[in-house]
Amino acid sequence: MKRSRSHKKALYGVLFVLALLLIAVAVRAYVTTYNSEREDEDDLYAESYEAAGFAGAEAAYQGLPEASPVAGSVKVPIIIYHSVRPYIPNEDALQDAYDVTPELLESELAYLKNNGYTAISLDQLELLASGATTTPSKPVVLTFDDGWRNQYKYAFPLLKKYGDTATFYIYTNPIVHNLPHYLTWDMVREMDASGMTIASHTLTHPYLSKLTPEELRKEIQGSKILIEENLGKPVKHFASPFGYTNAEIQGIVKDAGYETARTTYKGIYHSKDDLLKLTGILAGDSLSGFVKSLGN
Ligand SMILES: [Zn+2]
Repeated sequence: MKRSRSHKKALYGVLFVLALLLIAVAVRAYVTTYNSEREDEDDLYAESYEAAGFAGAEAAYQGLPEASPVAGSVKVPIIIYHSVRPYIPNEDALQDAYDVTPELLESELAYLKNNGYTAISLDQLELLASGATTTPSKPVVLTFDDGWRNQYKYAFPLLKKYGDTATFYIYTNPIVHNLPHYLTWDMVREMDASGMTIASHTLTHPYLSKLTPEELRKEIQGSKILIEENLGKPVKHFASPFGYTNAEIQGIVKDAGYETARTTYKGIYHSKDDLLKLTGILAGDSLSGFVKSLGN
């Protein structure tokens, strides 16, 4: 009797140690996978943010928007978001400046709602800029660049929760190649069906000033056709990678059949003559900065 009890004790002891080992292995596997996913993601970010001319685009964000409107223009802040993801410690300054956390995004959507703003589509912005309508009285356009999957995971549910529409500027190569941290066509179609606007951000996210006219047409028109094939509806809005534009680019954008094109040059007033070089405001890293950037 005594012997079997001590046997049992020993057996439980062994089982307990085995269970601990199993838990340790599982936790380690989880942490390793999690970290390597994060590293992959960081590589993709580095790739995306690395580019000649990026500093120029960034410089366009400096300072506050214009204080007074040009005659005939309407005040419609276009907010430019990139990644939406939980805070990552030790993130480099550039990535940090371009990311917002889901908590910050939600506080901004709540601010808009509580202060009488209405998120509108770019189609509505066109109507406002042309004078065809004067409502809503405090419009804002929410835009998300580059097609990160974290926008689907974190931003899309918040937009639905607050009843806001938004525009997603996607570039198509990562989707075509099923890259893990980018949207899929199914996600794109789901967001479109939920009232979001899907817009074009080229095929490969190049710096447009470095391309030949032929390459420009391929990037600008090719992405439009590809998204239209996958959505089954016209794509009317474009945004330049790195926010850059010039007269040649605007001409090709217009010939391709787009109605608007957004840059990253800073501003909150728009007119019907500026639809192919719309200005915007980079979402910052604080609610107070966001409120200021609305021109308040
Ligand atoms: Zn971009």
